[in-house]
Amino acid sequence: MRNIAINTDRLWGTMMEVGRIGETPGGGSHRLALTEEDGQARDLFCRWMREAGCAVSIDAIGNIFARREGRDPSLPPVMVGSHLDTVPMGGKFDGIAGVMAGVELLRTLNDRAIATTAPVEIVVWTNEEGSRYSPFTMGSQVFVGQQRLADMLAGRDVLDPTHGDTVGQALAKIGYAGTVPVGGRKVGCYFELHVEQGPSMMDADVQVGIVVGSFVARYFIATIVGEQAHVGPTPMAQRKDALVAMSRLVLEIDRIGRSHGPDGRSNAPHLELYPNVRGVIPARIELSCDVRHSDHASMLRMEGELRAAADAIAAASGVDISLRQYHEFGPVRFHPDVIDLLRRTATDLGYRTRDILTIAGHDAVPMLDVCPSGMVFVASRAGGISHNEKEFTDREDLAAGTNVMLHAVLARAGVAD
Ligand SMILES: [Zn+2]
Repeated sequence: MRNIAINTDRLWGTMMEVGRIGETPGGGSHRLALTEEDGQARDLFCRWMREAGCAVSIDAIGNIFARREGRDPSLPPVMVGSHLDTVPMGGKFDGIAGVMAGVELLRTLNDRAIATTAPVEIVVWTNEEGSRYSPFTMGSQVFVGQQRLADMLAGRDVLDPTHGDTVGQALAKIGYAGTVPVGGRKVGCYFELHVEQGPSMMDADVQVGIVVGSFVARYFIATIVGEQAHVGPTPMAQRKDALVAMSRLVLEIDRIGRSHGPDGRSNAPHLELYPNVRGVIPARIELSCDVRHSDHASMLRMEGELRAAADAIAAASGVDISLRQYHEFGPVRFHPDVIDLLRRTATDLGYRTRDILTIAGHDAVPMLDVCPSGMVFVASRAGGISHNEKEFTDREDLAAGTNVMLHAVLARAGVAD
C-alpha cells in the first residue's frame, strides 16, 4: 500500500476548477458563505462525489457529507474535510485545499479499487470563514453541539444586516437546507489538510507541517459610547467622539501585539459605527478585537493590557468603553494518536516535516469534542499571505499533504481484504 500515491495533476485541476467559481481579477476567489457562488462550488463537489460513487447527504445547517461505504457500514466513518467558502476577495487555497485533498484521495481509492473496512466521508463544512455570518466554523460547531441549530439558522448577514438573508433563508435559496439531523452520530476520526496561512513553513523549507495544537486567543467586542453632536459648531474641547477614542484604542491594540515577542498577535479588524453619516460626531462604535499568543500567561497579560488601555482612553476621552468577551479559542491540543499517525506517515513517505501550532481557527478544532481529530499544513508561498487574492501553494506541496492524508485515512479506516 505504501507505494500508492495521489494524482498530482488531477488534484491541481480540481483546485483550479473550483477556484474559477467567483474568480477575481487578481487570481483569487470571492465566494462568501451561502452565496450563489458558494452554491455552485457545492454543486460541483456533490456532482464529483456522486460520479465517484458516493452517497451525498446534507444536514440541516448545510454541511455536506459524501460517503464511500466501508466493508463494515456499522463502523463510524473516518472523515476528511474543510470548507469551500472564502473571505471577500480571498484566495484559491484556504479551505478548498482540504476538501479537494479529500476528493483526490477518494478518487485514488477508486482507481485502485481499494475497499476500506470503515466508511470514509468527505465533508464540506458550512460557513467556516465567518465573514458573512458569525461565528466562524459554524457548521462544525453545530455538528458537535457547541452551537444551537435554531440560533445559527437565525444568524443575520453581517455584511447586509438590513436586507440580507438569514443563514436559514440563504441555505434554502442555494438548495442546501438539508433534512438530515445535524451531528448526533459517531465519527471514527477527523483529518483536515489546510494551507499554513503564514510564512514559517516556507521559510524553513518544510513540506508537511504536523499541527500539534493552537495558539490561545480571546475575542472581544469593545463598545465605545460617546456623544452625538453636530460636527461643525461643537467646540473641540466639548466633544466626546467615539471614533477618535476608538482610533486611540486601535493603536494600543496594535502596540500590545507587537510588544509580546514573535508569537504576539492582536487585531481590530471590524467595526460598526453609528450613526456613520457626514455631519454628525460618531456616538457609538462596536469594535471587534482579539489578542493571541502561543503561551497562555502571555495572552492573559495582553488581555490585561487591553483592559487597562480601554480604561485609560475612556477616562482621557470622556467616553465609555466596555469590553465583552464573545469567544475564546485554545489552547487546543490535537489528539495524540492522530498527531503520531500523521507524523509517522509523513516521515515514512520521506517528507520534510515539522511540528507547528495553528494561529487561526479551523473545523478540526470543534471536531475534537466528538472524535480524535488532527491536521496537516502545507506551505503557503507568496510570502505566506492568505485571505488575499495572492494566496498560493505549490502543487507539489499540495500533493505531499494529500498523500499523507491518503495513507493516514487508510491506516484509520483499515484496508479490507
Ligand atoms: Zn480555512
